Amino acid sequence: MNMLKVLTAVAQPVNPEPTDFSFAVDGELVVLNPMVCDSGSCGCERAAIGLGSRRATTTVMVSERDMTVDDIARGLASLKSSWGGMFDEGDCDAFWAEAINVAGSFPTGTVLRFLAEPDHWVIRAETVPTP
Ligand SMILES: [Zn+2]
Repeated sequence: MNMLKVLTAVAQPVNPEPTDFSFAVDGELVVLNPMVCDSGSCGCERAAIGLGSRRATTTVMVSERDMTVDDIARGLASLKSSWGGMFDEGDCDAFWAEAINVAGSFPTGTVLRFLAEPDHWVIRAETVPTP
C-alpha cells in the first residue's frame, strides 16, 4: 500500500454554491487547470481538470488513494495527451506536483474550491460544521 493524498473531482458537493459546476467524473484524479484564459469569468479560472475525462470541475476533494509509481505515470501520460502535446512531460510533472502539494496541505476529505490569480491559485477550503 502506498497511500497518497491526491485531489479528486466532486460531482455533487454537500454544500453546493451557485457558481459550482462539475463535468468531470466523480472521484477521478484532477489537477488545477493549467490553461486559464483571460476572460476572468468563464469558469476556467475556478476549475480543476479530470485526468481521465479531461473535463472541468470547480469542486475538488482531498482524498487518499493507494497509488503506485506506474499509476501516477499512467495518469501523467493521460494528462499529457489530454492537451494534444501542448505541454511536455516536465509541465505535466509540475501540474501533478502542484496538485499533490495542495492535497498535502489539507486534511483528507476537505472540499476545496479554487480561484486563479495572475501568478497563483487562491484555495478555499470548505469548513465542515462541527456537530
Ligand atoms: Zn476561461
